[in-house]
Amino acid sequence: MSKLTILVVEDDAPIRNLITTTLRAHEYRFITSVSGEGAVMEAASHNPDIILLDLGLPDIDGVEVIRRIRTWSNVPIIVISARSEDTDKIDALDAGADDYLTKPFSVEELLARLRVTQRRLALMQTGGAPQAVFVNGGLVIDYAAGCVTLNGEELHLTPLEYKLLCLLARNTGKVLTHKFITQSVWGTNWENDVASLRVFMATLRKKLESAPDSPQYIQTHIGIGYRMLKIE
Ligand code: CA
Repeated sequence: MSKLTILVVEDDAPIRNLITTTLRAHEYRFITSVSGEGAVMEAASHNPDIILLDLGLPDIDGVEVIRRIRTWSNVPIIVISARSEDTDKIDALDAGADDYLTKPFSVEELLARLRVTQRRLALMQTGGAPQAVFVNGGLVIDYAAGCVTLNGEELHLTPLEYKLLCLLARNTGKVLTHKFITQSVWGTNWENDVASLRVFMATLRKKLESAPDSPQYIQTHIGIGYRMLKIE
């Protein structure tokens, strides 16, 4: 596998050094930027495979950096934010970020996020034409027939559960916010939609997960949203 190039955007030198030291030790290539404007320029000129983006930058806001980059590129973006910046994190995901890391994070967490993102990248690269059948581990969605099987057994889903599952499947590897999901599934974004979403997600999981308390397919991001994981 060829080496991936990671664009590291972080104005805080100790954190930047932790990231670049980790990347070097694990044979990733990297380029760095300490500002938002610089990040947009580096992204345009170097075409990185993944971007690690701090949200609190000295010039333009990280969310604005995502919006600009998303005008021409689908490159996976992992945002880095402080715990106090939960709303920024949600804005960043809604603007098109794929995942997030919360400061302080460990080297293991950073590497885990990079692995998840690499799997998403592999899916994006092989999935050129839209697939009529989605396969992930024992889960198979036949979009044309509108039917779902799990380990060969048909799953009986309500139309809403099916819509929810398809949305998560189409975005495997990406964290979807409550707002994004409710807007996609219901077309609205009201306070109580999030409560309904939790209920539908619980019934979907009961059918999908063999152990709903330690889900294999759909990961919960408390206060943020959900993600379908790619099963190895
Ligand atoms: Ca910062």
